[in-house]
Amino acid sequence: MKRALIIGITGQDGAYLAQLLLDKDYEVFGGYRRSANTNYESLRYLNIFERVQMLPLELLEISNIIRVLEHCEPDEVYNLGAQSFVGISFEQPLLTSDVTALGTLRVLEAIRTVNPKIRFYQASSSEMFGMATEVPQRETTRFYPRSPYAVSKVFAHHSTVNYRESYGIFACCGILFNHESPLRGPEFVTRKITRAVASIRAGKSRFLYLGNLEAQRDWGYAPEYVEMMWKMLQQKTAEDYVIATGEAYTVRDFADAAFGAVGLDWRKHVRVDRTFKRPAEVARLLGDASKARRKLKWRARTKFRDLVKLMVEADLARV
Ligand code: NDP
Ligand code: GDP
Repeated sequence: MKRALIIGITGQDGAYLAQLLLDKDYEVFGGYRRSANTNYESLRYLNIFERVQMLPLELLEISNIIRVLEHCEPDEVYNLGAQSFVGISFEQPLLTSDVTALGTLRVLEAIRTVNPKIRFYQASSSEMFGMATEVPQRETTRFYPRSPYAVSKVFAHHSTVNYRESYGIFACCGILFNHESPLRGPEFVTRKITRAVASIRAGKSRFLYLGNLEAQRDWGYAPEYVEMMWKMLQQKTAEDYVIATGEAYTVRDFADAAFGAVGLDWRKHVRVDRTFKRPAEVARLLGDASKARRKLKWRARTKFRDLVKLMVEADLARV
């Protein structure tokens, strides 16, 4: 039985990855950030909370990370832990860098110290492409980060590659484009929209306030993306991969489809609020996942409209 440690188990991807690994008969350890009121909602939503061994793991504390590795002796470590919201990273740049950039380096150092044979997955992000220098973006596209979050992810990405090249650690970066689901954090624009649609449909509110409606993202379905995290660590050689659908839509398209799914006209309910605009915006992201298609035999299956629909339905059920 293989053993895996998922850092950031309480997040969207942590829950789906835990489910996938449990289905593959892994013993799953979940590293969570301790708080007075830790939220295990995602694991409970998938009905797997009882099957994961939960361990407090703080990315700011290297000795804690080392002790967790010594305790669970994992074959694989997935670092999904991050301050992952771009918007707040402008308000909390130092915390974001400490957790998202240095946190990754702490995990790499801990692996190097405890057992360099552990296979390591790093959650890199399409945000690293930022003001994209080519369209679509692939593994070789130059990074041009536009937020403290993205700058931190670039640091973490290069650190991971550096530990692979310096110490032979089997370390892979998945450069994942935006991926969504009913478990997506409510601050992110997709989930913010689908929750609002459900609430407006139920007559509990009337308006939704958004920032830049013209931004374009390549949105995929999270459960399909976590499968690639696992697959990267099963290859013969450690490499980095872009994971994306290859189709981009605007925030406006998303709102249109989500309100449309319940027979509402988005124009009657969406208001623009400048406070949701960012100091530096990433206007358009579009990924080229042909390397993953070739080597990992992967292709995104869930299409944009189906994704919007399943998220709206899940939020309607919750309301
Ligand atoms: P989430 O924000 O849902 O999850 C992040 C996880 O990190 C949470 O479990 C969070 O815990 C944990 N965490 C935050 N700070 C710390 C800390 N100091 N110590 C330990 N754990 C901490 O992100 P997703 O699941 O959506 O994404 C997973 C990873 O993939 C993230 O690194 C994200 O940046 C990256 N990514 C995500 C993309 C997406 O579209 N979803 C795209 C590309 C990359 P808590 O619940 O307590 O906050
Ligand atoms: P990101 O790609 O990681 O920044 O994911 P988000 O879901 O947070 O944002 C996607 C895009 O939607 C960005 O270009 C945002 O500027 C844009 N956007 C427009 N309005 C909003 C909003 O109200 N909230 C969020 N989170 N993003 C918004």
